[in-house]
This record gives sequence, structure tokens and C-alpha cells, in this order.
Amino acid sequence: MNAVTSFLHKTEADPSSMPSYEKILELLPRPVIFVGSDGIVLYANPSTEVLLGTVIGRDVHELFPGFMSGLISMPGALSSVLVSWNEVAFEAAFAALGNGRFLIDLRPSLQASITSMPSDMDDLTGLAKRNALLSHLSCALSVKAPSSFVAIHCLDLDRFKMVNDMLGHAVGDLLLQKVANRLTSACRKGDIVARLGGDEFVVLQNDVNDEAAAETLASRIVDLVGRTYVINGHTINIGASVGVALSSAGIQARDLLRNGDLALYEAKRAGRGRYRTFESGMDALLLNRREMEIDLRRALALKQFKLHYQPFLDVTTNKVDGFEALLRWEHPKKGNIPPLSFIPLAEENGLIVKIGEWVIRAACMEALSWPEDMVVAVNVSPLQFKSDTLLETVAAALERSGLPAHRLEIEITEGALLDDTEKVVQTLNALRNLGVKISMDDFGTGYSSLSYLQKFPFNKIKIDRSFVAGHSTDSEAILRSIASLGRSLGMAITAEGVETAEQLARIRGERCTHVQGYLTGRPMSTHQIPDFLRQNDLQTEKL
Ligand code: C2E
Ligand code: CA
Ligand code: CA
Repeated sequence: MNAVTSFLHKTEADPSSMPSYEKILELLPRPVIFVGSDGIVLYANPSTEVLLGTVIGRDVHELFPGFMSGLISMPGALSSVLVSWNEVAFEAAFAALGNGRFLIDLRPSLQASITSMPSDMDDLTGLAKRNALLSHLSCALSVKAPSSFVAIHCLDLDRFKMVNDMLGHAVGDLLLQKVANRLTSACRKGDIVARLGGDEFVVLQNDVNDEAAAETLASRIVDLVGRTYVINGHTINIGASVGVALSSAGIQARDLLRNGDLALYEAKRAGRGRYRTFESGMDALLLNRREMEIDLRRALALKQFKLHYQPFLDVTTNKVDGFEALLRWEHPKKGNIPPLSFIPLAEENGLIVKIGEWVIRAACMEALSWPEDMVVAVNVSPLQFKSDTLLETVAAALERSGLPAHRLEIEITEGALLDDTEKVVQTLNALRNLGVKISMDDFGTGYSSLSYLQKFPFNKIKIDRSFVAGHSTDSEAILRSIASLGRSLGMAITAEGVETAEQLARIRGERCTHVQGYLTGRPMSTHQIPDFLRQNDLQTEKL
């Protein structure tokens, strides 16, 4: 960037052999003023004082009233420097100095942003905020040695919102302060920790030799932030996802930060509690997602969604109780896209609410053509619970189709109960009052499934297929205890993902009430259902 800032860097590297930064400014024959982002003069060197008198503490806007050069006013030029973080130079006449022409050279400076702390510092944690971070980052990029890198670690706390909701904001605030302390302790002198807001933090790592060095810090951050906290007697466990990005030649601060964000996005997608390092392919991934998003927006109107139905059977009688509706996207170019490849995207951009409404309506309509005792189970995303329209949608779908409410089952995952539990429980109760059944899906995959069973009397628990397929004694023990717990609470228990006769025998032994899986029936279209039921009846009779 500019000579002055690189002096700053050298001074830090070897304080004894160089004159201090301030010393240089004192001796500089041309005026130099430092202005905070609020427009107040923080520093002026003696050459300035000679020309303008005392200016420290004054507002630049009143110091240079109506100061114009062409279309550029001083305040406008200053804010453009702050926003773009680029140098702005122009020539201007200055009325207070007899209209003499001066060359004005506005440069963003690390020093200035440090001295303007009050507006650039986060109140809660005392860390740098976004603008200060960008200043530090631009500066670090411009002064770094050609052989070394600057690394950015973008951080997002996993489950922070839940802590805030369950334990209150005061505890949430204390937690953020502790996180800030741990991050600072993970860093070396010269590194910068910033809080961008909420539970988003960024660590700027200076003087990085290679990718391995950046990843060492990233994994230290994941480890440190993930350790248990004790706050006001509460034991709190959160995690951190980290996106790492290393500087490349000529990269700008904003782009480096964006790369860190992309990597963070990937870390979260990969299952949180881990770091991911930016790779150029991530751009393409994002592009791919954008294209997919555009296609997804049109998919409903173009009738590209279909429902397939997978039967669930009563374990003791082998009779089909009903079918779970599973969404399929028949993409004109990419073929069949499985739900796990597009539902997360639809949840991110909110499309899931519209898609989910379609699923509920279509499932109720199609179920009406099945035998009268068949239930249809519909998966509902946590996002649909947050949209306020779920109850209305369900009621309208039942009314329009004429399907009796007891033939509809709603499957929810723990995700729905993570935030705003009270409101979700209210909606669940209202659905229950309509006569709809409620199942807890993927049971055992979350971290506090058991506690949710006390919050709402589910009709059914669906044990995740990982416990059914698992061969460890652990998964057997878990399967057994969920089944016995469900029994004692009077809930039906479905074992999911049953693929083999041995697995079926095992879940029979644990006295699950229902079975669902490839062994007893793969997902099929609604037209295939009559045939399937006929076949199944024949087989049952043979037993
Ligand atoms: P899920 O609710 O746990 O649905 C069961 C998934 O397991 C289905 O995958 C099903 O095809 C698969 N499966 C069933 N039996 C077996 C088996 O024996 N072995 C194995 N390996 N897999 C089996 P699918 O259709 O790909 O759906 C995946 C997930 O997508 C569903 O998991 C559900 O979470 C979500 N999903 C599907 N349809 C919808 C929908 O309409 N709305 C929402 N929000 N989510 C949906
Ligand atoms: Ca399900
Ligand atoms: Ca499931």
C-alpha cells in the first residue's frame, strides 16, 4: 500500500533498529492527519500544526467546510477511502489558506483504524469489528513478505442460538466473551481476532509459512472453542465450524474474506465442528448451487416433483399400516435428484415452505385413492414450523382432499425442536387437535433426543437406520433402550432401514412395533401401491 504503513510493519519486526512510526511523522515535512472513521482528527503532525494550527479532536467536516475539488468533497472522499480501502488523491484549492492549491492524498491506514478504536471495537468482546478487520487485513496483505501468507479463519459457533434461547441472552453474552478469550489465547502476537456480529468470528493469522500452519491453527480453534464451558453453574457444550483461506498473489481483503466464508459454508455442510480450507473448486460448487437454486425455483411450476411411497409394516402381523411420502425431483437434464441433494438448499433459501406445502397437498390427495385404513406419513422440515403457515396448510390439505385427519402422520426431526421449542410444541398440539398423528423421525441421531420425548407426546418414534444397520454392541443397546422407553411411554416404534432378515429378527426381538426398509418394500409410485398391497397380502397369508 503506502510507504508509511510498511514502516509500521518493519518497526514491529525489529523495534530497536528503526525510528518509531510517530518519529517519522514528526519529522515529515508535509502535513499528515489521522482521522477516525467518525471524522474526528486523532493525530496531526507538526507540519500540519504549522499550516492549520491545532486540529486534533476537531471534526474534519468543520475543518474543511465546503471543501471541494470538482465533484469531490472532503467528507465524500474520506468515506470513499473508508469504504473502498483504496487511496484517493486529488488537487484542491483551500479557502482558509488563501486559495492556494494543495495535493491531497487520502490513504487508509492501519494506524488510523487502531486509534479510532471506539467506533471499530465490539462492545461485548473488545474485539475488532468488520471495518477494523478489513483494515488490518488489507494492511497485512500489503506488507507481508512475498514468501509468507496471511490466513483468514472464518468461524461460526454451532448451537449458539440454542444456548441463547434456552439459557438467556446474559449467558449467551458471557459465552461469547469466553469464546473471544479462547480465540485470542489460540493466536500469536500480531494475529487479530474480530467479531463480525452474532456468533461470527474471524481470526487473521499473520506470517503463515504454508497451508499446514494455517490448518494447525484452525484445528486448535475447533478444539479450544469446542471444550466445555461452565457459566453461572450451567455446563455448556458448543462447537465451532471454521473456514480457512490463504492469501494468493494480489488478492484483496474482501475476496480473501469471501473465500474464508465459502470454506466455512463447506465446513458447515460437511457436518459442523470441523474446519475446511478454501479450494478454487468451491467457487464452482457455489455456482453449481446457484444454478440448482434457479432450477429449483422453477421446479414446482414445471411439475418436476413426484412423491414416492415407502411402506411401513406392523412387525407382528406383517400388514402394511401405511406409506411414507418421499420427495423426488425429476430434473430434465440431471435426472433424478435425491432429496438430500436439494432439500438442504431449499431450506437455505426458504423454498422448502412452498415445496413442503405441495408435498402435504399431493400426499393427502394421492392417499385418498388407497385402501381406507392406510396412513400417509409426510416429512416436514423444521423450516416449515418456523413459517407460521404449517397448521393452515395441513388443515386446508385435509379439507380439500377429504382425507380423514387420522390417516395423516407428520414426521418431524429434532431440528424442529431446537429453537423456539414452545412455539413448535404449540403447533404440534394444534396439529394433534386436528386429529393428525405426529412421529419423531431419525431418532437417536441428534444429541438430546430423549429430552424432546418429554416435551411432546409423540405417537411414534422412528429409530434411525444407523442403529438398525450398526453391528456394535452400542447400537444394539441403544436400539433396545429406545424401544423399551417408547413402549413405556405408549408410543409406536418403527425401525428404519431394515435391509436383511437378520435385522428384522433383531428388531422383532427388541419388540419394535413397526418396520420400514428395503426388505419390506422400496419406495414406489402411487400407481404401484395396489399391486404391492396385493402381493404383500398373499405373502402374509402364507405365513
Ligand atoms: P427419511 O425421512 O429418514 O426417509 C427415509 C430414507 O431412507 C429415504 O431416503 C428412503 O429411501 C431411505 N431408505 C428406506 N429404507 C431404506 C433401507 O432399507 N436402506 C437404506 N439404505 N435406505 C433406506 P430418501 O428418499 O433419499 O430421503 C432422504 C431424506 O430426505 C428423508 O430421510 C427425509 O429426511 C428427506 N425427505 C424426503 N422427502 C422429504 C419431504 O417431502 N420433505 C422433507 N422436508 N424432507 C424429505
Ligand atoms: Ca422420514
Ligand atoms: Ca428417518
